[in-house]
Amino acid sequence: MKNILTLVFFCTVIFSSCAQQRGNKRSDANTIFPKGNKINNDNFKGTAYLKTLMEADSLNPTSVGNVTFEAGARTKWHKHPGGQILLVTDGVGYYQEQGQAKKILRKGDVIKCPSNVPHWHGASVNTAFVQVAITNRHLGETVWLHEVTEEEYIK
Ligand code: MN
Repeated sequence: MKNILTLVFFCTVIFSSCAQQRGNKRSDANTIFPKGNKINNDNFKGTAYLKTLMEADSLNPTSVGNVTFEAGARTKWHKHPGGQILLVTDGVGYYQEQGQAKKILRKGDVIKCPSNVPHWHGASVNTAFVQVAITNRHLGETVWLHEVTEEEYIK
């Protein structure tokens, strides 16, 4: 009887330890960089988070930020004088340049936003989206334009 109780005890310890490790792996698996803080300005619609990974400086006039968009969240239309590069690290998102069809983005996609071309990016309707945004600042700061309409977003 004592042996059985000892066996049950060790099985329980091993099982709960494995369950905990699986849980940790799952929470790490979808996150390369920290989520950061909720964005509280009206250049974004819906819930989005920003973690600044690198500030621009005189040697590298380029900022790098990890942006997490919850489903349905997106930027306003905007343009970057020095252009921007987006590296998609998770989820499903959208990217659209003015006059072009909306593109669907998935993990591993890379987008080059040309200088001064109005565009927007964000999560898809049902799935969150994570991007690393590399923004060149040497020609000026991001210029924010109008909101993305529901029709533009859904189309
Ligand atoms: Mn942009």
